[in-house]
Amino acid sequence: MADAQDPDAGFLERALGVFVYSRRALELVWTTSRPLTITLALLTLVAGILPAVIAYIGQLIVDGVVTAMNSADPDTGHVLWLIVMESIVVILVAASQRGLSVSQSLLRALLGQRVNVMILEKALTLQLANFEDSEFYDKLTQARREASRRPLSLVNRTFGLVQNAISLTSYAVLLFAFSPWAVVILIGAGLPSFFAEAKFSGDAFRLFRWRSPETRMQMYLETVIAREDGVKEVKLFQLGPRLLQRYRDIFKKLFVEDRRLTIRRDSWGFLLGLLSTGAFYAAYAWIVITTMNGEITLGAMTMYLVLFRQGQTAVAASLSAVSGMYEDNLYLSNLYDYLGQAVPARLGDAKQGPEPKRGIEFRNVSFAYPGATENALEDVSFELSPGNSLALVGENGSGKTTLIKLLTRLYDPTGGQILLDGLDLQQWDVEALRKRIGVIFQDFGRYQFSVGENIGAGDVRYIDDAERWAIAAKTGTAAPFIEAMPDGYNTQLGRWFKGGRELSGGQWQKIALSRAFMRTEADILVLDEPTAAMDALSEAAIFDHFRSQSHNKMTILISHRFSTVRAADRIIVIHEGKIIEQGTHESLLAENGQYAHLFKLQARGYQ
Ligand code: ADP
Repeated sequence: MADAQDPDAGFLERALGVFVYSRRALELVWTTSRPLTITLALLTLVAGILPAVIAYIGQLIVDGVVTAMNSADPDTGHVLWLIVMESIVVILVAASQRGLSVSQSLLRALLGQRVNVMILEKALTLQLANFEDSEFYDKLTQARREASRRPLSLVNRTFGLVQNAISLTSYAVLLFAFSPWAVVILIGAGLPSFFAEAKFSGDAFRLFRWRSPETRMQMYLETVIAREDGVKEVKLFQLGPRLLQRYRDIFKKLFVEDRRLTIRRDSWGFLLGLLSTGAFYAAYAWIVITTMNGEITLGAMTMYLVLFRQGQTAVAASLSAVSGMYEDNLYLSNLYDYLGQAVPARLGDAKQGPEPKRGIEFRNVSFAYPGATENALEDVSFELSPGNSLALVGENGSGKTTLIKLLTRLYDPTGGQILLDGLDLQQWDVEALRKRIGVIFQDFGRYQFSVGENIGAGDVRYIDDAERWAIAAKTGTAAPFIEAMPDGYNTQLGRWFKGGRELSGGQWQKIALSRAFMRTEADILVLDEPTAAMDALSEAAIFDHFRSQSHNKMTILISHRFSTVRAADRIIVIHEGKIIEQGTHESLLAENGQYAHLFKLQARGYQ
């Protein structure tokens, strides 16, 4: 009791921390639908006050009956009228509760959609680096998972609390007539439990937040064990039991903490609950004795007892609302962390450079991935002018893809400069820049859309343009197998949707290449090993075609096949992030360095 009446600030702060997100949840609801929020608020008020009104009418009825019993000319009409009144109020309570549940259902749908759209809109403004940051990615996934449920749940709990608080206040007003001390008992007896519940709810919030990496690992294990893309290896490498054991171990560790908190929370809950029950019953006894002494009427006694009983119910309901709040808070803190992620301001707005025919120039470019200690690229300089092709050669992890990511501004260099048409990429309008570039990465998107849309995705303006699909597919050598499929370009791809077809790796790559050919306006074409799964013949045919289509364009290709690489106007050999050789196929062979070595190695394999 002492704790509740004279809590130190730290405790109070911690206990009330559980309401920090209530305000934000309310804001969210308010901005989602004002009419529904107002309805919810009004109905909450009505549903909060009416129980006290019922108790008050109850008093009048009992007193009316007692008076009538002691009177020679009983006024039955008056009492019956009161009963009608009470039934009307009871109907109002039922109506307001229905109204509450209708507004909640409607709000749930609107709010779910709103939060999902907020999450996705934010996702569109994020950088690639954000998605590669495990913690941030975790926030995104969690935010999405419960978006349709949590915000409203918090609002419902908050409104539920408010409703109970209103009921308690109205009981207090009626009880005040009996004795101000009764009010103190009603409120005071519930407070310790309330604060304890709020405090434990806050503790649970902190505990769960802090352990999110473990939970994340558990979720990941679930995915690997139970999802289509993991199944093949899990079965063949017999990883199943081992992964499941890890899953169990994590649970055991977390369970120990859970158990401690749950036991502590419920023991305190029980003890403090005893305190309230004791106080309530003491008040009960007090009221009964006062009635027996003839100080209050029988009707008043009935009312006060109802008030105390309902008061206790209201306190209990508030406690359970508070005890569930931490889960909603967990969700909202995560959501707001995610939404609050800083997005770098868009710097440039240039739509063209001062030297339109100049092409690309890398000037002493260096780059380290966020958090990495070593540079993925170091002091890289080269030029590429329109009409020329460039091939990047190097072992895995040497930095080829990184170079492409810098060129496409998925990342910005940490040192040096990249210029296009004589203007630093930073000064270019990102949209204008990306319009000029067509890239197909090794891990290109395999969309579970129709074949046609998969190709059309290369130029979103023409995503539905069947004529352009066909032209692009022809150039990307995908047309023959697409036309052989029963539904042609309308064939659904992937397994998620009914009737979806799966393609072979090489067929997918042809789709991806066709997608690159949709970007007819792009003058920088980049192929980052999208042909690795194709047979050598198809690859050679594609690159021949590719070159014949790319007059006046700049092409950059990454391939491990020297038969492809050798035809490029210039070849750059990268090793551990640095350029170690560059030149034409012939000059590099003559140099007899790394390139010549690798070329001979591969040539020997084909002999
Ligand atoms: P390549 O395309 O030549 O095979 P990459 O450019 O993908 O090589 O990788 C170059 C180096 O950068 C490697 O050491 C790799 O580990 C590192 N790296 C690649 N992607 C990331 C990333 N998203 N975050 C941190 N390091 C990365």
